[in-house]
Amino acid sequence: MAYSLIISDLHLCAEQPHSMQVFLHFIQKIAPGAETLYILGDLFEYWAGDDDIDDPFNRQITHALHALSVSGTTISMMHGNRDLLMGQKLAQASGATLLTDPTLLDLYGTPTLFTHGDLLCTDDIAYQDFRKQVHEPIWQQNFLDQPLAQRKAAIAQLRARSENAKKNKTEDIMDVNLDAVASLLRQYHYPRMIHGHTHRLKRHLHTVDDHNCERWVLGDWHETGNALRCDVAGCSWEKITL
Ligand code: MN
Repeated sequence: MAYSLIISDLHLCAEQPHSMQVFLHFIQKIAPGAETLYILGDLFEYWAGDDDIDDPFNRQITHALHALSVSGTTISMMHGNRDLLMGQKLAQASGATLLTDPTLLDLYGTPTLFTHGDLLCTDDIAYQDFRKQVHEPIWQQNFLDQPLAQRKAAIAQLRARSENAKKNKTEDIMDVNLDAVASLLRQYHYPRMIHGHTHRLKRHLHTVDDHNCERWVLGDWHETGNALRCDVAGCSWEKITL
């Protein structure tokens, strides 16, 4: 029976070799059975721009994905907040296509809305202001015009600042806002929703205007990974271990 796999929030970086091992195992041994692999953002801990594609660590990732696509699994990638700057060059090297956030599609007969999830965290006003800024094409172009080393330094600074800011934010503020969830479900005519970003792996049920909607939240990857497997009968969790 045909099925697809959905993952997000791997936050791959050279400093976390174990996550990388789990990812490569997943791509080489588990994902080839799937019709489509959807990556819903934050595959990378950060992405400084497509000119960083020749970095040996990044090459390992694009090569693994490309081999998967050649073997017959379609790969669709969505931007996360960490890898917002992924571009066509990276997609091409990975044998993948880029999805806009959000994207509604028919997944084995069920209308399904994919989003990274950060747009739902509307209680975090400082973050939403930042998000708006970095989504501006002009801001992105100005950033990408800087030398790669300078961009990496700026990102490192940003990551440190974000870690610091998180200490002063409550768990509630960093979770999705339920009104934002309801309004997105309403806007897309009550689909099933799948997202990541908050790392709070769980299946939720929402009743919006008398419609029952499933919302699946993907978790992040550390010692183990997690994927959502969806087919005509529905979705279920898969734990990914070495
Ligand atoms: Mn994220």
